[in-house]
Amino acid sequence: MNHSQTIKLIGGGLNGPLLAILLASRGFRVEIYERRPDIRRVRMSAGRSINLALSTRGIHALTEAGLWQELQKIAIPMKGRMIHSVAGDLTFQPYGKDATEVIHSISRAELNMALLSAAEARGAGIHFQQRCTGIDLGSGKILLRDEQTGEETIVESSVVIGCDGSASAIRTEMLKQNRFNFAQQYLDYGYKELTIPASPAREHVLEKHALHIWPRGNYMLIALPNTDGTFACILFLPFEGADSFASLATPFDVLRFFELQFPDALELMPQLTDNYFGNPTGAMVTIKCSPWEVDGRVLLLGDAAHAIVPFFGQGINCGFEDCTSLMELLGWHGADWTSVFRKFQEARKANTDAIADMAVENFVEMRDRVGDPRFLFRKKVEQAMEAKYPRLFVPKYSMVTFHRVPYSVALTRGRVQDRMLTELCDPITRIEDLDWDLAGRLVQRDLTPLEEVS
Ligand SMILES: Cc1cc2nc3c(=O)[nH]c(=O)nc-3n(C[C@H](O)[C@H](O)[C@H](O)COP(=O)(O)OP(=O)(O)OC[C@H]3O[C@@H](n4cnc5c(N)ncnc54)[C@H](O)[C@@H]3O)c2cc1C
Repeated sequence: MNHSQTIKLIGGGLNGPLLAILLASRGFRVEIYERRPDIRRVRMSAGRSINLALSTRGIHALTEAGLWQELQKIAIPMKGRMIHSVAGDLTFQPYGKDATEVIHSISRAELNMALLSAAEARGAGIHFQQRCTGIDLGSGKILLRDEQTGEETIVESSVVIGCDGSASAIRTEMLKQNRFNFAQQYLDYGYKELTIPASPAREHVLEKHALHIWPRGNYMLIALPNTDGTFACILFLPFEGADSFASLATPFDVLRFFELQFPDALELMPQLTDNYFGNPTGAMVTIKCSPWEVDGRVLLLGDAAHAIVPFFGQGINCGFEDCTSLMELLGWHGADWTSVFRKFQEARKANTDAIADMAVENFVEMRDRVGDPRFLFRKKVEQAMEAKYPRLFVPKYSMVTFHRVPYSVALTRGRVQDRMLTELCDPITRIEDLDWDLAGRLVQRDLTPLEEVS
């Protein structure tokens, strides 16, 4: 490999520093340009402390980077969903088939800080408050503006990777090219960060090892545990209409709404109205575009290439999988960037499109179906099918979250299994009445062992 080559990354969020670490470990020099100040020195702005659910794909990448052992200390395993009814009844739904199948709650800010420090420790240069305002895709010249002084500079590189998130400046430049495909779809829903504080003894006031959900049909509240005893909550509501961000305009409106819909959560949120009016309302978008690369010189990666909505908890897991996939291709093709970038898009595009679609579908499941008794019955049948045919019938959630099978495979097999579950569940109400002969025939007819397609 050409170790004298310097690779320039735009964006020091989550994917940028992880990619820097992996590239540095291959001997490349890496420079990162980040528009924000250094999060390790400057207090974050409100609404930026939302937690992330890390699962197998993300953990695999962090392990490859030699970081997971250390990061595990600041992550909390969540074994399943804890569903809160309006009356305050709790139902626990495990995520996986056993104690090894858990997802991990981690603070975005702490993960970001750890990745930045590790990237620096491996020799990457990080330039903060440097906003990329444009790029000449033909030459790789990057235009930067110092966010403090306003000074403009140009840096040049033969390889530039845009890790600058869903509003990518690099992608904006690509949009000007002929035949660049671009689609963005906003949800009619927004989100707001809220907090459940710790008890006076600094302990969690709800079950610590669960992702809490208050599903209410058209909207929901969720809470993920933090290591300091607090919970990071996210309220998802329509932007407009009844029970929306537009309709909750005063502290009275917010308190009244929580009293009616989330009374058990309200008791735990003394700073609800301060949080609600102090934090911004975020938008959620799916972005699909192609091609992701220009002449082996410029590439998009992570949210810049494929932003997805957060309802499968996969955005960063998918982005980190981009990083390991790129490294694998670099291993095969060396620093032949044209081949590496083209193969990268070939390998990833169908999969990132698949997780984008599954993430949108999962919103309905989270905000509505998890509280439905028929859905819970299907889940029971699904678990029984997995226990009987562990190599053949793996639930879609598990394929996405606990395996590294391509997302497109999870999507296709998930649909086949969904049809099977409908055929098996529709005629019955008790698991004892499940037609195991039919189940056996369907599984043998429609599914091959998962490891054969991975
Ligand atoms: C509410 C919510 C909940 C989520 N929950 C989960 C979850 O549970 N699990 C999960 O896997 N994913 C989750 N995600 C998705 C996850 O946050 C993203 O997929 C992830 O942050 C993408 O990482 P990135 O590095 O590509 O982009 P970002 O994290 O957005 O980082 C981009 C960086 O580039 C910088 N930047 C932007 N423009 C410029 C510019 N012009 N010049 C220089 N720098 C620039 C930004 O300041 C930023 O630091 C969630 C997202 C949201 C909104």
